[in-house]
This record gives sequence, structure tokens and C-alpha cells, in this order.
Amino acid sequence: MSKENTVTIAFVGNPNVGKSTLFNEITGLKQHTGNWTGKTVESARGEAVYKKQRYIITDLPGTYSLFAHSPEEAVTGDFIMQDKADVYCIICDASCLERNLPLVLQLAEHTKKLIVILNLWDEAEKYSVKIDINKLEEELGLRVIKACAKKRQGIKELFSAIEDRHCGSLCVVKYDENIEYALSLLPDEYTRFEKLNIISTQKIENHPHAKEYLYAAGYYPEKCEEIITSVIIAKAGKIARKCISQGEERIERNRRIDKIITGRYTALPIMLAMLCGILYITVIGANYPSLWLSSLFSFIESGLNEFLIFINTPSLIREITVYGVFRVVCWVIAVMLPPMAVFFPLFTILEDAGVLPRIAFNMDGCFRCSGSCGKQALTMCMGFGCNAVGVCGCRIIDSKRERLIAILTNVFVPCNGRFPMLVTLISVFLINSFGTYSTLHSALMLCIFIVGGISITLAVSFVLSKTLLRGIPSSFTLELPPYRMPKVGSVLVRSFLDRTLFVLGRAVSVAVPAGALIWILANISVKRISLLDYISLFLEPFAALFGLDGVILLAFILGFCANEIVLPVIIMGYTGAGVLNDGLGIAALKDILVLNGWDTVKCICVLIFCICHFPCSATLLTVKKETGSIKWSLAAIVIPTVVGLLLCFTVNLIFGA
Ligand code: GDP
Repeated sequence: MSKENTVTIAFVGNPNVGKSTLFNEITGLKQHTGNWTGKTVESARGEAVYKKQRYIITDLPGTYSLFAHSPEEAVTGDFIMQDKADVYCIICDASCLERNLPLVLQLAEHTKKLIVILNLWDEAEKYSVKIDINKLEEELGLRVIKACAKKRQGIKELFSAIEDRHCGSLCVVKYDENIEYALSLLPDEYTRFEKLNIISTQKIENHPHAKEYLYAAGYYPEKCEEIITSVIIAKAGKIARKCISQGEERIERNRRIDKIITGRYTALPIMLAMLCGILYITVIGANYPSLWLSSLFSFIESGLNEFLIFINTPSLIREITVYGVFRVVCWVIAVMLPPMAVFFPLFTILEDAGVLPRIAFNMDGCFRCSGSCGKQALTMCMGFGCNAVGVCGCRIIDSKRERLIAILTNVFVPCNGRFPMLVTLISVFLINSFGTYSTLHSALMLCIFIVGGISITLAVSFVLSKTLLRGIPSSFTLELPPYRMPKVGSVLVRSFLDRTLFVLGRAVSVAVPAGALIWILANISVKRISLLDYISLFLEPFAALFGLDGVILLAFILGFCANEIVLPVIIMGYTGAGVLNDGLGIAALKDILVLNGWDTVKCICVLIFCICHFPCSATLLTVKKETGSIKWSLAAIVIPTVVGLLLCFTVNLIFGA
């Protein structure tokens, strides 16, 4: 065992089998879970203590094979090759075990320190899948445990299996003569699995003997991999037939739902209806809490002001605190929190139910036409939460070219730093005249802007794939997971704690210094003109070309720290000393905007620029980290900004006064 008597455990398995759920249940951490392939792109580490024994657990990204094709598969493959754990737990989906067995067999060829966990046992029972565990143990030569991570079942058994140090025996799969002979030509210091890895990759170049033999037989690395994979799949099938009796009911139900959700004529209307429905609920659900929060904050504000006067705070500090920091923070919370608190749970429900990969599947055709691949639809969806997460998620895309396209275009879906600004501007500025149906109109309008963002993503992907990132679209292999009934309670908790509060916390931490800075800029004057005015006057002529103004452009520039602050900065810029006389309510917003020369065209230009402009600092850092290149990071700034400016210029030229 490792030093300090700590046992290290690694969770391995196909994507979407409940590894992160089990990991979270055991460690008490909050690794991202969801019903689609590829959401865990980095390994997570956590600790647990069971019967006074300390365990360190690593949750590895899901993989179908130990032969790496994508970066996240490489993370898992490397970890296992370097044998970094004392025990490996291979988590399987008991409701479709056969799919998981090839990886079990691959791993069983590499290490004896393996325990098989049949998770999602509840689902298997529900769909009448019967597994003969004793027979399976016999066939694999490994310890097999049933579990239901969602209900914390099987954890005790898992630890006692680890405690027993019950490890299996190496399971050897027999390949054809050529492969077996080539394996025997490789040095014995390699494990059997390492040898298999060598002959099916370019590593064979370092072993001339085996290479010569294999190449003479026409066994190039790709062919070796193909043969190895098919032998393993055949063996998995054989084991499955001996140990599993399948429930057909679920397969049939999935097929029926898929016929509608991914149907040729139904897919697009259903996706649009879902998008519109989510936006409608978000707008309607966000309106009232937003107003309540605003009045609550104005009440607190006057209290805070009086309190600071009462304790004799110097007026400069009091004003910065109240009218700078407090006001911007309140704006960010009042405007951002309600839409996020509604949007995220809805999004998480779709994620949990297994709808997201279907959206990717439906969008595959569009993305292929634009020279990239359908998985980009998934990373795009992740961008709705946070573009930095979306960019990081692009690791699920195997081809480097397509990954770059997805990274460079992720910013065209509004993340939740920008989402509330879109909701607010649309509902207070563009919609007011529609009366009773205003919420529906807001949602439709928002839908149009988001679909616009998606269309721009496709168009820019197309241009990139014909210019800077030329190439042929790769084939699309994304697993469609079974539909699952989301657990509403955990969805609410998870989306609120993991997403809403996390994003809000980040926004507030940026809003505090930004609020102070903006107040200072707005209140320090040289020759009776504030610094804010100087900067915005300087930017004015340039901004006017694009239907914007100096204050708006300055707000977007300051919003580089975090997009959430763009709208508060615009308002503080317009109100000079930062005073919103009618309290913080969004009702006052329209008056302020109109007073400062806003009309429909200007509002549309701002909305377009909100969707198409340089990414925020966190996203940009992620782009730099993921691409490892300054050139592509610069491209990530230039491409959306140029697209945004061009669109605004055109709109302003055609419709502007
Ligand atoms: P990972 O990709 O392997 O990390 O899988 P996740 O932990 O993200 O889980 C995938 C989906 O399966 C999520 O929707 C989970 O809520 C669900 N899930 C995980 N474990 C169980 C279980 O034991 N029973 C049921 N019914 N669902 C589960």
C-alpha cells in the first residue's frame, strides 16, 4: 500500500455510468454529474475515511477504451498505464452491462487490482435486466458488487471488498495468431496490455522486430486496434449472453421517444419549442423576484447609508461603499439571480433526463455542413452556463481541428453573465408595448437572439473550416444515453449550489472592485468633467459607427473582467454620480436609457454586441490553457469582436437614424 497507510482508489468506467455520483456520495464533494457523455474532462480527487482507514479516490474521465483517442481518454489511459492506484473500481451501468464489458476486459488484462461495481442497479431492476453475479464473477475472475450510487447503496460492500484486498486474476483474452506472436516478440517488462497498446499505436516504431513481423502480415497499428477491439467486443458479448437476461421494455421505450425527439420532421420544432419554453419560464419566473429583490435592496441601501452617516464614516468612503460597491453588487444580484435560479434547474433537468446528447445528434447535420461536428452542440450548450466551461468541455471533441473551431466559436452562445442582460434589455426596452403577451414576446425575442447566436456559430465555423482550419469533418460517435427520470430534489440543490451560487459568487467578487472603480471614475472630475466622461467621450466617435456610444463600449471593455457588470456600468455611466433615483428597479431602466439616446436600433446593436464580442478574462484564460497558443487566444478575441462590430455596423447603417 502507499505511504502513510493510505489506500488510493481510482474510479474508471464508460462515461455516464454514475462514477461522479458515486464519487460525490463517498467523498462528499460535488463533481459535475449529468446524463451525457463527456462532462467529466478532468480527473477529480477526494478523500474518504472508512473504519479509520483513509482512502484517496480519483474519479477519472469516462472512457470506452484504454486506447486513447481524445485528450480525456488519454488522462485515464495514462493514469492506468502508470499504475497510480492501489485498487481500481470499474463502474458499470448494470442496465446496459454488455456495453461496459469491453472496458472491463481491457482493464482486467492490465491489472489484477480490480473490482467491478454494477451501478444503476435500480434501473436494471426497473427494466427487468437480470444479472447472475456469481456467474459474472466466475467468468471475469473478479469481485463484482451491485450498487445504486443515487441511493448510497453498495458503498459499504465496496469498502469491504477493498478491505478484503480481494483482487482478481489477470484475465487473458486470446487474439489471433499474428497478434499473439507479435506480443511474444515484445520485451517481457511490459504487461500484456502495454504490449497490446504498443502494437496498436505508433509506439510499434520503437520495436523493429515486432513491427517487421506485423507489417509483413499487413497488420498496421490501426488494423491491430480494430482486431483487438472486435475480439474484446465478441468476448464481452459471449459473457453477456451467459450472465445477463435483457429487459426489452426500456429499449423499446427509448426507441419510441427517440423517434419523436430525433425524428426527421419533429426534431427541429421540438428543439425550438423546448428552447422557447425554457426561455419563457425563465423570463416569467425572473420578473417578479427581480422586482422584489430590487425593492429589498433599495430599502437596505437607505438603511446602510443612514448607518454609515450615524457612525461618522467619511463621506467619500460612504459614497463609494453605498453608491459604488453596494449598488453595483445589488444590481448584479437583483438582475442575475432570478433568471439563473430558474434557467439552471431547467437546463439541469434536460441534462439529467438525457436530452442534451439528442440535441447534439439533431444538430450534427448542421455542424457537418459547416465543417465541424455535432459534439460542438454539446459544448455550445455548456456555454450557456459559462463559456469557460464550454471551452474546457471541447475536449470531448476528438479532432484537433474541430476542437479549435468549437473553442473559437463558443463565445457566440450567451453565458449566464450575459444572459440576464439580454433578458433585461429585451423585456424593458424592446417589448414594453405588447401588454399582456409581453412575457411570451420577450421569450420569443430572446429565442431569436439565441438562435441568431447559434447561426453565427455555424457561419463562423463554416468560414473557419474553409480558411484557417481547413479539413474534412470527422465521423460522429456520441452515445445516446437512456432517458432517465431526473431527481427533482437533487437537480434543484445541484443547480442552485453548484451553478447559480458559484456563478453569482464570481460575479459579485468582480462587482465589488468594479463598483468602486466605476464610482471613482464617475466622481473624480478634471475641469468639471468626470474621468468616466473623458473616456467615454474619447470612445464615442468610434462607438457611434457601430450604433453604440462611448459609455456602452467602455462598459463592454470593463466587462472583460466579468460580463455581469456590463449593464451596471452602463447605468452608472449614464447616471454620472451613480444615482438611480427611482431605486434599483428595472422599471427605471427604460427612462434612463431613453434619456441617453437609446432607441430600438441602438438596443439591437447592444444585444448583438453582447452576443458577439471578445470573451471575458476567465474564458480567455481557458482558451489559452486549452489551445496552449497565444495565436489562437488572440483569434478568440478578434473573431467574435470583428463579427460583432461588422453586424452592428450593418444594422446601424441600414436602420440607424
Ligand atoms: P459519470 O459520467 O459516470 O460520472 O456519471 P454521473 O455520475 O454524471 O451520472 C450519470 C447519470 O446517472 C446522472 O443523471 C445520475 O444522476 C445518474 N445516476 C448515477 N447513479 C445512479 C443510480 O445508481 N441510479 C440511477 N437511477 N441513476 C444514477
